[in-house]
Amino acid sequence: MTQHYRITLLPGDGIGPEIMTVAVGVLKVIGEQLDLSFEFQEALMGGAAIDAKGEPLPAETLDLCKNSDAVLLAAIGGYKWDTLPRHLRPETGLLGLRAGLGLFANLRPAKILPQLVDASSLKREIVEGVDILVVRELTGGVYFGQPKGIFETETGERRGVNTMAYTESEIDRIGRVGFETAQKRGKSLCSVDKANVLEVSQLWRDRITALAPEYPDVELSHMYVDNAAMQLVRYPKQFDTIVTSNLFGDILSDAAAMLTGSIGMLPSASLGASGPGVFEPVHGSAPDIAGQDKANPLAQILSAAMMLRYGLKQPTAADRLEQAVLTVLDNGYRTGDIMSEGMTLLGCQAMGEALIQALHEV
Ligand code: NAD
Repeated sequence: MTQHYRITLLPGDGIGPEIMTVAVGVLKVIGEQLDLSFEFQEALMGGAAIDAKGEPLPAETLDLCKNSDAVLLAAIGGYKWDTLPRHLRPETGLLGLRAGLGLFANLRPAKILPQLVDASSLKREIVEGVDILVVRELTGGVYFGQPKGIFETETGERRGVNTMAYTESEIDRIGRVGFETAQKRGKSLCSVDKANVLEVSQLWRDRITALAPEYPDVELSHMYVDNAAMQLVRYPKQFDTIVTSNLFGDILSDAAAMLTGSIGMLPSASLGASGPGVFEPVHGSAPDIAGQDKANPLAQILSAAMMLRYGLKQPTAADRLEQAVLTVLDNGYRTGDIMSEGMTLLGCQAMGEALIQALHEV
């Protein structure tokens, strides 16, 4: 029986519409091949929404997102909107989307593709074979804990305050995503904290340890965040899945991602307890190359693969899409950002055509 899915597309700004067009073309082919029916509904977000509606996340966009099975986002922002007041900035729309959909888990893979191993700033023998996924808590911790602010002390000096706080249920919720994600991957989970210094981290460690018996097939380890930062650049291959809090995850996921050396290749997923997740490339809207057919669409394609795997629970389709990406790279096709000697330079659109060709060959 044909499976039917409603997907909200948020092409956004800059190179967003170009890479989204490629993703839609590729998803249509996958749908035909695997008997999946995708109903695409496009909505305004970011700068495009500010221009048309006066706000970065119009209510009708959020409603469409809520009434879909998954949200595929490209990129938002650009110089034109950088000087607007904070509540009107494109990024404010992103925060509103996360809050509106209750997205508390951010999944950031950092996988070294054999074809691009030399793009990393680290030595080949260190990064070859690296396949890490960082699960970051997204709606709690020090970014949201109360009290927060800049207060005046009795002596008239100003004091900046943020509070790192997690409840047991918040830790359990993200911990479960960590264990379940590890189950779908290499079955090894490293929980990163600072339990030697922070009480909030001690509770984190206690709860993650308490969850472990429910996942006997996953091997759990713990690591302090300072050591994790060192180990990521010393011997990254030791990691499979990492679960960590908002602040530590923000920093470690960027460090892990950069092991790959190519921003145009990095996807991400943000998931809630139920309802649609948001799937988007890590890179921004690249205004410097927008409208020139130079963008690398592969991070968007890999985000669509994450949507198939984690959002729509269609692992076969996800595998197929990821395989198509490997095939085009094997065939020597590159966009400008990942170009190297002896390879064939393609524009964004032509890369999309190469992907479709690869899908027909799988
Ligand atoms: P950026 O990621 O847009 O670009 C950084 C550099 O990488 C640029 O040289 C760009 O050309 C290149 N690049 C990025 N993606 C590429 C791709 N797919 N193919 C080829 N080259 C690519 O970061 P930035 O320049 O700091 O930010 C530009 C705008 O994007 C800003 O307005 C920023 O706020 C916004 N932004 C949005 C998101 C998002 O939508 N989630 C994330 C980061 C930045």
